[in-house]
Amino acid sequence: MDFARLIRDIPDFPKPGVHFKDFSPLLADGAAFGSAVAAMAAPWRGAGLHAAAGIEARGFILGAAVARELGIGFVPLRKPGKLPGVVHEVSYALEYGHDRLQAQSDALPGGARVLIVDDVLATGGTLAAAAELVEGLGATLAGAAVLLELTALGGRARWRRESPLLATLRY
Ligand code: IMP
Repeated sequence: MDFARLIRDIPDFPKPGVHFKDFSPLLADGAAFGSAVAAMAAPWRGAGLHAAAGIEARGFILGAAVARELGIGFVPLRKPGKLPGVVHEVSYALEYGHDRLQAQSDALPGGARVLIVDDVLATGGTLAAAAELVEGLGATLAGAAVLLELTALGGRARWRRESPLLATLRY
């Protein structure tokens, strides 16, 4: 995957000791962005999906692009207080403290087959919370797609589901 060369390591971001994978250069390159999105979407062609659900914020960029690639809808999973109307919410633990994700309760018809999309799988907490949220909406979880999996952090173990979790690149 030639686009992998446009992902760089930023040491000590956002805090000391963390090696941040920054794919901004990949997004800025039209050909690389297109190839990365095509690679993320390819395994899901013909999977009968209704929508991609992207996790704020970088999951919006990739999720919306994957949705267009597959010709399906897009649903945003957002940080609290951003979505109008009735929302569904899940809380999940972070290394320090906790965070929440919300989706509009009427975002999806019951039984809709949904693919969760995010940029990076690290410890797996965010993706597990997104899965719980999508299931709480009454949708059917078809699986999850991430651009990057940081295998050393073992996040895949928290995806305790039958549906596939596919990573385009693994480090
Ligand atoms: P997890 O919940 O620990 O798996 O962290 C995943 C979330 O944190 C994703 O939504 C990512 O956007 C973000 N994240 C974690 N590590 C990185 C990184 O190295 N680069 C970009 N985003 C990251």
